[in-house]
Amino acid sequence: MSGPALNRLTGAAAALPEFTVAGLWVSATSGLLNGLPVPAGTPLLPDARGVLTWSAAPASPVTVTCPVPPDARAPLGSLDAALTGLALDAGGWTDWLRVSPLDRDLADELHRFPLEDTMERELTHLEAVCRQPRTHLEIFEERQLVSRARQIPVRAVNYLASHTEDWDARTLRGVRPRRVITNVRDDLYDIYENRVAARLIDHLTRYVRRRLARVRELLNGLDTIDLNAQTPPSGMHWRQGRVYELWGESLDLTEAQLLARERLEDLGRLLYRLERLTVSPLYTRVPAKSQVPAQLRLTNILGNDPHYRRVARLWLSWYRHAHTGHVSVQEQQQTAQHDATQFDRYALLLTLHALQQFEFTPVTDTALHPGATLALRGPEGPTELTWQLDGTCTLQQAGTELLRVVASPTPLGDLRREELGRAAAALTDAAEALTTQTVLLYPGTAQQTPMPELHAVSSDPVRLHPKLSCLPISAVDLESVERLARVLRLVLTGARFTAYPPTFETDAAVPPTGLPDVLQPRGPGRWALLGPLSAQPHSWTNESRRRHHALEDARRQLGSHAPERLALRRAQREVERLQAELDEWTTFLTAVAASEQRLTHLRRCPVCGTEGAEFSAWQDDQFHCACGDCGATWSLRRCQACQQRHPWLLPHLHTVPTLEAGPGWADRLYGRDVLTLPDPFDLGSYACPDGQQPDHTPFNVT
Ligand SMILES: [Zn+2]
Ligand SMILES: [Zn+2]
Repeated sequence: MSGPALNRLTGAAAALPEFTVAGLWVSATSGLLNGLPVPAGTPLLPDARGVLTWSAAPASPVTVTCPVPPDARAPLGSLDAALTGLALDAGGWTDWLRVSPLDRDLADELHRFPLEDTMERELTHLEAVCRQPRTHLEIFEERQLVSRARQIPVRAVNYLASHTEDWDARTLRGVRPRRVITNVRDDLYDIYENRVAARLIDHLTRYVRRRLARVRELLNGLDTIDLNAQTPPSGMHWRQGRVYELWGESLDLTEAQLLARERLEDLGRLLYRLERLTVSPLYTRVPAKSQVPAQLRLTNILGNDPHYRRVARLWLSWYRHAHTGHVSVQEQQQTAQHDATQFDRYALLLTLHALQQFEFTPVTDTALHPGATLALRGPEGPTELTWQLDGTCTLQQAGTELLRVVASPTPLGDLRREELGRAAAALTDAAEALTTQTVLLYPGTAQQTPMPELHAVSSDPVRLHPKLSCLPISAVDLESVERLARVLRLVLTGARFTAYPPTFETDAAVPPTGLPDVLQPRGPGRWALLGPLSAQPHSWTNESRRRHHALEDARRQLGSHAPERLALRRAQREVERLQAELDEWTTFLTAVAASEQRLTHLRRCPVCGTEGAEFSAWQDDQFHCACGDCGATWSLRRCQACQQRHPWLLPHLHTVPTLEAGPGWADRLYGRDVLTLPDPFDLGSYACPDGQQPDHTPFNVT
């Protein structure tokens, strides 16, 4: 019995929760999504208000809330077309890797947009209007003290006669009033033309803010490329080289950076001018709820007044270039579905690039489409990548799922604070059901990470859940691949380290004497190889020789017992027994050799690939390796408090850089080449990654 929806984090059917992050669920059957019919396998995404309604007969409809950011995010740019092309043509590994994970059109957005030109020209007129707005003269009646009354209408006498509470005293001649009705004149600001000006300030402010955020994001991306193009001070040239390779120098970096800085200045100035207008007489006196339709009505003032005319022109320019207009439910849903699908493909593209960095190559370059599996080989061992039907992708080794890569189109960094807290809690809840290491990728850049937990690999001290990594990725952030590669490092290399020592089972009677120290029994018939055998022990060579000779002797005797049946059968049985003994022994030696092969693998430097690193086996199933070439060290260490073993990898740094230990510091310093994180303020320290977790209780030795 399948549930109403499929959870992409776990890959299993389950009931929808009341609150979730968009993109984590797909429909298991056909049904109605936000009132519109959709087939099975459709991402369950909310409408513009952040509400998702899903009904699949016979189950009753469910309503789920999803946080949505106030502003839409910039799309994938040039990648959008490239990803659509790859998916339609069912391209293979080489086709996908030919597409750089970077938006090639990013420089287009660094130029001044038409609306910004118009603003430069017309903003002075909006300022003039705000300083001295046109008003309507309004006359209305009000009860006022006699001393303040100026113009008294005719009906004031009648009113006074019937309102004794407004009398001051009764005199012989009549009544002396205390308060009378007077005509009050006032300037009315809340007229259509002024509403247009006030709302235009709002619209333009929003536009400029969004543009500023985007240009800042682009500039950060460019600065990252620039940083990676130079010789790094810390000696992490491996990381820099990998990142810079993705860039490919298709754009004049310096020029683009200059352009971006220029744009930031321009936009900053515009924002300053607009913000000043919000304290002007016009803006403060037009109520915020006085809205005007986007379609401008050209009134006398808007058509003829020298300043208002230019304000109208500015409004029209905004309407043309920045107004998104009303979108129908269908259109909204279509766009959301398209963006979610594209983001899934983008996550796959990054995964492929990350796999390539680990020197994986396809066994055969098969076409990639949802449901397809790609067999890969590389130094980390045979691995399979499956593009699942639900749009996620998974990595398997020897039939075991190592990692799920799930993408959510919700830019968590853009959410309002309280929604972000709820989203993080919902993700932590959802992670409880995880059985495999999972990484959640969402749109965002390293600079915007709102919570350290949302930019963390599952082994980091600060994280949402030990099975869930959360990382921002962006088509303008060159280091997105490197961040994802660190997760691969953990599930591939980390798992390989943790599998130390290699063990095997054998029925062979191993000669008890002359056993090398590195071979240790682990229960009946079970052995562990703790370190490389320098050479096969003398006694083993003797044993091999002895068994061979015994078998040969028995065979020879079998040949001599020609006619006697009973003796023949006995001799035959003896040959079989000796053959089995020899086979057993050979199996044992093969198992030792296989274990040694795995140790050889451990001695390959994960950073530079040099083989034969110095290997030391430490007590309690720990090991330590150091690369003689690049100076990287890697090890498996047991925490004295919780008794867990953790994989470590630290590249050699020529100089220790000064670090800002904010979210993603390790990605910026080491990139993919780190496992358990050291203390950012003492990079040589080995601390348990779970040290800050509440269940990390000290181990009692007694
Ligand atoms: Zn090395
Ligand atoms: Zn510990």
